[in-house]
Amino acid sequence: MTASTATNASTTKNPPTVLLVGGGIGGMAAALALARLGVAIDLLEQSASIGEIGAGLQLGPNAFAALDALGVGEAVRKGSVFTDRLVMMDAVDCAEVASVPVGEAFRARFRNPYAVSHRADLHGAIHEAVKQHPLIRFHTSAQVEAIDTSGQGVTAVTKDGRQFKADAIVGCDGVKSVVRARLIGDAPRVSGHVVYRAVVPADCMPADLRWNAPVVWAGPDCHLVHYPLRHGEQYNLVVTFHSREAEEWGVTDGSKEEVLSYFEGVHARPRQLLDRPTSWRRWSTADRDPVGRWSDGAATLLGDAAHPMMQYLAQGACMALEDAVTLGEAVKACGFDMPAAFKLYEAARVARTARVVLSVREMGRLYHAKGVERLVRNSLWTGRSPERFYDAVEWLYAWRPEHCLDDAPGTLRPVTATAEAKADAETAAVLSPH
Ligand SMILES: Cc1cc2nc3c(=O)[nH]c(=O)nc-3n(C[C@H](O)[C@H](O)[C@H](O)COP(=O)(O)OP(=O)(O)OC[C@H]3O[C@@H](n4cnc5c(N)ncnc54)[C@H](O)[C@@H]3O)c2cc1C
Repeated sequence: MTASTATNASTTKNPPTVLLVGGGIGGMAAALALARLGVAIDLLEQSASIGEIGAGLQLGPNAFAALDALGVGEAVRKGSVFTDRLVMMDAVDCAEVASVPVGEAFRARFRNPYAVSHRADLHGAIHEAVKQHPLIRFHTSAQVEAIDTSGQGVTAVTKDGRQFKADAIVGCDGVKSVVRARLIGDAPRVSGHVVYRAVVPADCMPADLRWNAPVVWAGPDCHLVHYPLRHGEQYNLVVTFHSREAEEWGVTDGSKEEVLSYFEGVHARPRQLLDRPTSWRRWSTADRDPVGRWSDGAATLLGDAAHPMMQYLAQGACMALEDAVTLGEAVKACGFDMPAAFKLYEAARVARTARVVLSVREMGRLYHAKGVERLVRNSLWTGRSPERFYDAVEWLYAWRPEHCLDDAPGTLRPVTATAEAKADAETAAVLSPH
């Protein structure tokens, strides 16, 4: 099937046509960002139905800035829970390590709230806007197996043999991206960190843990997280441990016996969470070493396909949303010259997203510290003022759509040396449980 008429993107003055591979949060956000400019989109999603997994997601203020730019901020806010604090507890002795308020002062500084949302609600809000846009065609059961960028325009071939053609292509197809395999060909870095996730009704949640906050219980080689969803009617539970097994990236059903076996060194108070779900899903996680280039001519990558990261800063989806807005701005700035736009977009995103990928790895180490390292972590964070925390996350949370191209070489805006130095020195002090 030919979904779009191929033209030469580098010479066209009219809006081009674009194939987006992957209908997750990143792909749908990119569809909105481009369609708003008049670009006709074919969005190819391998699943038979459109949706997200049953789990929660944290959204930093940078995500809301991006969602507003995409026109869906209010819809997402409606389904979100605005938390009071971000909390870290020591899972061994139940002492509070840090409690960072994210109320008025936080919102004033970062111009947006910190929130938690059910993934299906976030995905659903973006999908509603996608459905209403006449320039976006959403194809389900369209698993892309190959792409060809060698001729004029690009072609994507699906498993069932259909061919989709357009002027340009964006791989938004997640950690195991087929488009990345074609553009870069590197292997994912399986972390050996396994995540179990479940959503439970509020009455299953221990009464003494029903806090309006993302709470991380940091333990030796493991941690547990909980936060409310859907006006507090549900709670999201996430537990992570270093696997004893040789892991492969992937998602499977979990086993209660396995999860219990990794939390023996943890206090009974957080440990009681492990009994609550009736079923768990198990994620063996992976990221990739950051790369300096992820575009080639009329093809580029976005979201987890471009910069997959582990979950310790709760920023993977936030980065995909930022990517989408930046891509749209780059296309606008380059007057629909797609290869030039992809270069500009990439230049604006590589360093920032690599910084997040690398900070996340460090964060995982701090979350799972044991022995003396645990004591060092606790002494670093206990009693830390909100202002010091805010300074440390300035680089991450203060992202703004109107400056999203500023980080591209040649367009660097001036930054205050003090703020940057502080942020660098204190990256390790970021507290953002996922
Ligand atoms: C345990 C855990 C907790 C997390 N918590 C947070 C959090 O709190 N906050 C946050 O911001 N991020 C969080 N993340 C990260 C976030 O989930 C991801 O970064 C985000 O979902 C990436 O979106 P994406 O659209 O780039 O990729 P994906 O969500 O992976 O979407 C890719 C889409 O492409 C489709 N696809 C794949 N291959 C093909 C193909 N060949 N053809 C067609 N379609 C294809 C898939 O079916 C899927 O729909 C967490 C991740 C994990 C593992």
